[in-house]
Amino acid sequence: MSNPVPISFEFFPPRDAPGRERLIANVASKLNELGPQFFSVTYGAGGTTRDGTHQAVTGLIDAGFQAAPHFSIGGDDAAEITATLDAYAAAGVNRIVALRGDQPSGYSSSRFGHNAEALVRLIREHSGDKFHLEVAAYPEIHPDAQSAAADLDFFKRKVDAGADSAITQYFYNADAYENFLERSAAAGISIPIVAGVMPITNLEALIRVSEKCSAEVPRWLRYALADLQDDERATADFSVDFVTDLCERLIALGAPGLHFYTLNRWGATTRIVANLAG
Ligand code: FAD
Repeated sequence: MSNPVPISFEFFPPRDAPGRERLIANVASKLNELGPQFFSVTYGAGGTTRDGTHQAVTGLIDAGFQAAPHFSIGGDDAAEITATLDAYAAAGVNRIVALRGDQPSGYSSSRFGHNAEALVRLIREHSGDKFHLEVAAYPEIHPDAQSAAADLDFFKRKVDAGADSAITQYFYNADAYENFLERSAAAGISIPIVAGVMPITNLEALIRVSEKCSAEVPRWLRYALADLQDDERATADFSVDFVTDLCERLIALGAPGLHFYTLNRWGATTRIVANLAG
């Protein structure tokens, strides 16, 4: 069994050392059997998980896995940013997911002052080609965008600044991805645009997270999941089949890879990847 396209898995940083140990021993080790290209670890709003992200990434690398930190400028000055980049390079990191990042509420600095393009530029200036740089992309349009065209333009600016590949926000409508690939190609963007995939385990959690990041959960899907709400097994089976089917469509559309938002769980993701490989 082999994966039809390269896959990667995203974690959020556990709160403490025992949490990190559990993540590596119980989750990353299981997911690593699926042959991922890398694991990535998110970075909290405004740098709030700076140490946690660094510790999780180095823990994964020490356990023998490929790991990439998510990173954003937040409130850091240039010296703090370059020190972090140097520390990552010294720890054996060769891939970074470069983001503007979500700001914590009440955060005072300008919302757009430090966008991802600025970070990509800064990393290339300081670190040259030491890191493979991933950036975020939005097939369903970023909520801050003034228009679809403006959003695409910001994406292109990150690419022109030196991004190597992109990972999309998750979505459940394959047409949005197809349309985004077409618009990106027409704009002259030729880097791989890996599809972000969110396995579904719980309707309530899905709606909460999707509202936060403006990902659309189709009405029919919400109703279908609501009907199964009291039956955990049936919800899991339906969701795995639905997301497997979505992934198959994305691969048929030319997705160069799939990036799974695992929420630090291995069950649903493992079943989906096994279906794709089988
Ligand atoms: P940018 O590319 O800088 O901007 C996103 C959009 O905002 C642009 O496309 C544009 O529409 C608008 N915009 C940007 N600058 C301007 C401007 N000057 N004027 C007008 N409009 C502008 N968040 C976290 O906090 N931590 C994480 O670890 C994390 N990981 C993520 C991983 C992936 C793969 C994805 C898709 C998202 C992730 N996010 C994370 C969420 C992300 O930080 C938010 O979506 C954030 O609001 C935008 O980040 P960006 O890097 O896409 O920003």
